[in-house]
Amino acid sequence: MGLLRKIFKKPLNNLQGEIGEFKVKRKLNPLIFKVNHKLINNLTLMDDFGHTHQIDHIEIRNNGIFCIETKSYKGLLVGNEFSDNWTEIFYNKKYQIKNPIKQNKSHIYLLNQLLHYKYNINSVIVLTNNNAKNLNINYVINLKKLKKYLKCFNDNTYLTDDEINNIYNTLLENKMNISNKEHIKNIKETQKNLKKGICPRCGGTLLLRDGKYGKFIGCSNYPKCSFTKKIDN
Ligand SMILES: [Zn+2]
Repeated sequence: MGLLRKIFKKPLNNLQGEIGEFKVKRKLNPLIFKVNHKLINNLTLMDDFGHTHQIDHIEIRNNGIFCIETKSYKGLLVGNEFSDNWTEIFYNKKYQIKNPIKQNKSHIYLLNQLLHYKYNINSVIVLTNNNAKNLNINYVINLKKLKKYLKCFNDNTYLTDDEINNIYNTLLENKMNISNKEHIKNIKETQKNLKKGICPRCGGTLLLRDGKYGKFIGCSNYPKCSFTKKIDN
């Protein structure tokens, strides 16, 4: 099953992911909302280190800015906000998946940089197969709840129509025109460098270091470069 899944799951996963993003996009369609809002789908941004990040959706409304990550997991999900990984239980088999909250945090970090930390940017993880119940994290929500969640959201933000337009334009100005293929190539390049012991940020040498919480991998150019990585189990 493990091997079969490896062979067959990948193309299915990509397709499922695309379908999931389409479903969220459809829910956020301007015609359906009776409020002024701007929606950016599939925004690719580059960070200071030349790495690209793909953001599924950014919804900008009077009552807030939402960075939305879409996931199409099918099984029962177990995890919390802080762990590196979640577990997906699917037909009695357990699979480790990356915690999407952490992924989205790095997206929000970039958005904050672009918007000069002027606004509160909210993380929302949307599960298109409506399997959020078990997780019990208030901003990890089912697709069917998305519209209501956004409508009722209140963090005391009020953005004027001009502000909405400005934010929208700023983000689009920073959009990278990079294809999905290049994005994946970029990630693979980083992984390759890590394996070779090369710092993916500055090209320095990765070293084993002793920290307060045990050993970790750090960069030889510290403190100039603060890249760190946990040691894989
Ligand atoms: Zn480095």
